[in-house]
Amino acid sequence: MKVSIIGSGYVGSVSAACFAELGHEVICIDIDEMKVRMINDGIPPIWEEGLEGLMQKHAEKNLIATSDYDYAIQNSDISFICVGTPSNEHGNIDLSIVGNACKSLGMAMAKKDGFHIVVVKSTVVPGTTEDVVLHLLEEHSCKTAGKDFGLAMNPEFLREGKAVYDFMNPDKIVVGGIDGRTIALVSELYRDLECEVTSTNPRTAEMIKYVNNSFLATKISFSNEVGNICKRLGIDTYEVMKAVGKDFRISEHFLNSGAGFGGSCFPKDVRALIGKAKELDYYPALLESVVEVNDLQPIQMFELLEENVGDVKGKRIAVLGLAFKNDTDDIRESRSIPVIRKLLEKGALVTAYDPMASEHMKAVFEDITYCESSEDALNGADACLIMTEWTEFRKLDSEFSGMKSKVVIDGRKMIDPDNLEQDIVYEGLCW
Ligand code: NAD
Repeated sequence: MKVSIIGSGYVGSVSAACFAELGHEVICIDIDEMKVRMINDGIPPIWEEGLEGLMQKHAEKNLIATSDYDYAIQNSDISFICVGTPSNEHGNIDLSIVGNACKSLGMAMAKKDGFHIVVVKSTVVPGTTEDVVLHLLEEHSCKTAGKDFGLAMNPEFLREGKAVYDFMNPDKIVVGGIDGRTIALVSELYRDLECEVTSTNPRTAEMIKYVNNSFLATKISFSNEVGNICKRLGIDTYEVMKAVGKDFRISEHFLNSGAGFGGSCFPKDVRALIGKAKELDYYPALLESVVEVNDLQPIQMFELLEENVGDVKGKRIAVLGLAFKNDTDDIRESRSIPVIRKLLEKGALVTAYDPMASEHMKAVFEDITYCESSEDALNGADACLIMTEWTEFRKLDSEFSGMKSKVVIDGRKMIDPDNLEQDIVYEGLCW
């Protein structure tokens, strides 16, 4: 099939490369000329395991990129909207980027003969596809949904760091269409994946994505709440949750307590669902608490640091891990951000290291020292904060030897203090 993908970020570029791998002809559309050039050169615009290989294999064959909507729409049958849907200043969803994409898409569809299908893959609050996207497309294309074009919502469940694998091996594929014809055509794209398609209406598909993310965020905040209590009781919450997770109704996954969840999805999606609920005059107490507990974790981290080193003014603090999770260069809503902000506010000197994400963090904090290795960041430090679960941090040991005072605050349970040879003051955030 001929597919165009609007937006070449984490979701768009992975979807494009994977659809190309599934044998479809794919055209990426992005307003960022640099990303267009990179894709055409076979270079992924973001770092994601396995993406480079796919891009190199398919670039200039069945995967091309352009900023020309007209060209892309004329040469495709299905367009996926994969642009960002960030939070606005009140935490509600900001649909302006989706709105701009719909306008350009609608204008290009106006010039095309024949049936076209539009699929919203961006995460949007329930009602958006039918109440916003449909009307914008009709307005700018002067065409009618259901007659001249099909419209569907197909949420994306990939995890950054494992995005290519997740796209090719999905747990579920949800297609919410305005009619059966659209659902059938969109489902056809995924025919070669071993996964049943759950078909529904657009509103339900939109809600499935929010409930999915909100439930996962709830598991983490629940684990953090338990962890904060365990810490005060001198109990290792990981031992508790390991046993609790053996109950099949709970499952052992996503019960890791620590510095909290970040990233481009959980925080904004929980906030968007809260905003939507309030718009409907419902106060979502549980979801509000999920956010509250998550906001508390970086503060707990800082307080634990102060308990161990006193006033941080003038002290050198090493922050290990800047990405919001391991195996990605994405720093959006990383828990390192509020921690570094607090350290700077209190007059600490920050040395930071991340295997992948330092360049992105430079746009947030210009004036901290970025190091090339953990060892460099730790050298001369008064304390160290472990913020991201990069595998290499599990092996830290001799790297601590250069520290001025050996205080390690672990926000991700990366270190087993029993295995450390050195004389280190080790504090786990919740254990
Ligand atoms: P992103 O910010 O990484 O990428 C968005 C891309 O859209 C950028 O390359 C940008 O240049 C481009 N763009 C902006 N306006 C455009 C326009 N008018 N026309 C064409 N291109 C335009 O975003 P992302 O992380 O890929 O997320 C996209 C959507 O997918 C969001 O709704 C997000 O919630 C959802 N989602 C993200 C993930 C994830 O792990 N990142 C997972 C599932 C769902």
